[in-house]
Amino acid sequence: MSRLTPVQVIPPTFNERLEIIEDFVAIAFKKYKISHLKGKVSKKLIKKFITWEWGMRGVEENVERAAYRAYLLNKKNNLPENWDDYKWPISQKIELDAGDKDINRPACPVYKDHQAEHREGCQCFKPEKIEGWVEAMGRQYPN
Ligand SMILES: [Zn+2]
Repeated sequence: MSRLTPVQVIPPTFNERLEIIEDFVAIAFKKYKISHLKGKVSKKLIKKFITWEWGMRGVEENVERAAYRAYLLNKKNNLPENWDDYKWPISQKIELDAGDKDINRPACPVYKDHQAEHREGCQCFKPEKIEGWVEAMGRQYPN
């Protein structure tokens, strides 16, 4: 298949995301030789790693950054008591349609104001399009 062949990418469901994140955690913790600590990563913490985007790239970055922090803290024998409430170096990315000047597509109003209404046909991430998302995470974009 050519790189230019358009493919219909089906975004993972919420439960698939959780499983993928558990794999990311296992891989990253192994890489930093802290696999014995991966049990500390609760479902609550995994939800904090989740980014509001069609794909999983931002989540992978969050897991990688958290694993590296855990590695450093472990080395200094300074791991947090409560992993769920520790300030991990993660970012709550949201994928919103910033528009595309090259093809004359305007930005979605939500790009500037999370309370605004979506422009019809915009390419923003929409929680209700991901099976199981709204039940687990709600519909409101994080601020
Ligand atoms: Zn939109």
